[in-house]
Parts: sequence; C-alpha cells; structure tokens
Amino acid sequence: MAERAWSAIARFFDNCKKKVPGKKGFPKFKKYQTHASVEYKTSGWKLSEDRREITFTDGFEAGTFKMWGTRGLHFYQVEQIKRVRVVRRADGYYTQFCVDVERNENHELTGKNLGIDVGLNHFLTDSEGQQVDNPRFLRRDEKALRKVQRRVSRKQKGSANRAKARNRLGRAHLKIQRRRKDFVVKTARAIVQFSDLVAIEDLKVRNMVRNHRLAKSISDAAWSQFREWLEYFGRVFGVPIIAVVPHYTSQDCSKCGIKVQKTLSTRTHKCTSCGHVQDRDWNAAVNILKKALQQLSKQNTEGHSEINNVSGENDLYLSGETQPSKPTRGKRKSKE
Ligand SMILES: [Zn+2]
Repeated sequence: MAERAWSAIARFFDNCKKKVPGKKGFPKFKKYQTHASVEYKTSGWKLSEDRREITFTDGFEAGTFKMWGTRGLHFYQVEQIKRVRVVRRADGYYTQFCVDVERNENHELTGKNLGIDVGLNHFLTDSEGQQVDNPRFLRRDEKALRKVQRRVSRKQKGSANRAKARNRLGRAHLKIQRRRKDFVVKTARAIVQFSDLVAIEDLKVRNMVRNHRLAKSISDAAWSQFREWLEYFGRVFGVPIIAVVPHYTSQDCSKCGIKVQKTLSTRTHKCTSCGHVQDRDWNAAVNILKKALQQLSKQNTEGHSEINNVSGENDLYLSGETQPSKPTRGKRKSKE
C-alpha cells in the first residue's frame, strides 16, 4: 500500500512539470471527459489535523471532503505539498498531492546489464533469455470492454440509459488501467532491481501507429507505460535506462552481427553465416543491449556523455544521471 501511495504521488509529480499552471476560478469539469482535473498550488485548500479531510477555500463551494487512502500523506510535512489536484474519474473524485521530495533508494549491484525486447508474443524478453508473458487479464478485459462498448452504442443518444452505460464503460476502462498499471509497475521495478543497466528500444521511434486492433493498442499502452516506470525506477535506484533506436534489432545476428532477414512469423533466429540459433526475441534483446553499450562507449570517447569519469562498464552505476538527453524529471531537492 505504501508503495502504491508513493507511486501515485510520483506519477503526479512527473505530470506537474508538464502542466501549465495558473488555472483560476471555479472548477469546471468538462462533460464527457474522464480525466478532468482542477489544480491548486499552495493555497485554496487546507488539510485537517488527521489529514483525512480537505477543505477548499476558493470557488470550490462544496467545502470539505473526506478522503480515503491518505496514509501516504503522513510521511510528509504540509509545506512539502506543492500542489493539489482534484481529478474526476468514472467512479468518483480523487485528490492527488504533488510532494516536493527526492526519492533515492539503495541499489544492490547485481553485475547484470539487461537488454529488453517487448512484443506481442511475450510482454518482454530479456537478454538473459527470461520472458514475462502478457498477463491473461489483458485479453479478458478486452472482451469485457467490447461488451460494454456495444451496450453504449445500442442505447438511444441523449438518454439517461446511455449516460449510465457510458459511465459503466468509463469504469471498465478504469479497471483495466489500474490492473495494467499494477502489472507494469511490478515488472519494471523487478527489472531495475535485477540490473545495473537496462537497455530498451525507443518505442517512440518504432512505428506505433494508432491501431484499431484492440489487443495491439492495449499492448502499446502497456509498453509505453512500462518504459515510463522503468525510467522512474531507474532514477530512484540510480540504474541507467538507455533507449536505443530499434532498427534491425530483430534482424541482426546477436553473435556475428550479420543481417538475417525474417518475417514477423519467424520465431527463431537461425544465422546463415555463423549458425547461431536463438529465440527471435531473445536475439533481439541481446542486440538491444549491445547497441546501448556501443552508444555509451561512443558517447564516452566523443566526450558528449553526461556520465563523468567512467573508466569502464563497471562504473556506470555510480551515476544515476546517465539517461541520455533527458533532464532529471521528477527529481527536485527539498528546500529544507
Ligand atoms: Zn551469426
């Protein structure tokens, strides 16, 4: 539970930086928006002594709200709360607190650098040959979603029944989102804790076209969320997460480097040159790791690296700031 509270807070903190501040006046939630939200800075709200209630002192006339799940809040001083956001979801209102805090945790060295390949056959395959399957609930939820979706479209437009059905659809989406997040967070955390460096494909580069196939779009959503959490835990544990351009990672031979053309349905890599045989995704994961290490050593010799005084692979973990060209999103020093 504590971990979850942390995560929620962390997520919000990340979003904080992207959000344009300065929203004023009475909060208006848009009618059909599932993620409508209102933001406050350090004024306009007040927490009760036991931190179970929040009172809005501005135009939010509803006044005082009871909150559930505020346990995580007790770890912080009120002064550390820099922003408060009220969010409307299909199943109720939520309050998010943006906390000014730096989370750093010790990372026990494992001596492992991991390359990660994501795909439809398995959720991921790493360069050690370990695989994480797609959770079964993704498929099951997909079916359930279709059913609820159909119900909405059968109801008459503008009717109360349609509104009800629409709300049910919103809840179904929420349920899926929460399950997926849970799975993704656990997986990302385990990967980071297991490694001293993680290499992953830059999925933004990979053609993630908007796809009408639900299974595909659900997986895509899970992957990009997975990457965000990898990067988050990378910062927390000081483990570098390196994104590489995904070109030819599934085609090239991870042993000799020669290109071996294969279609999507070819599940095994068989090298025509050196005879190397390996599961397709495993081969790709090894290539991804190789690419990342090459990228790093290139950066080092060219002097563009953010990694200082790296003499060899083994020193990489000493710096938590090795993410290429990304500012330290989500980290801010406490003013105290
Ligand atoms: Zn080969």
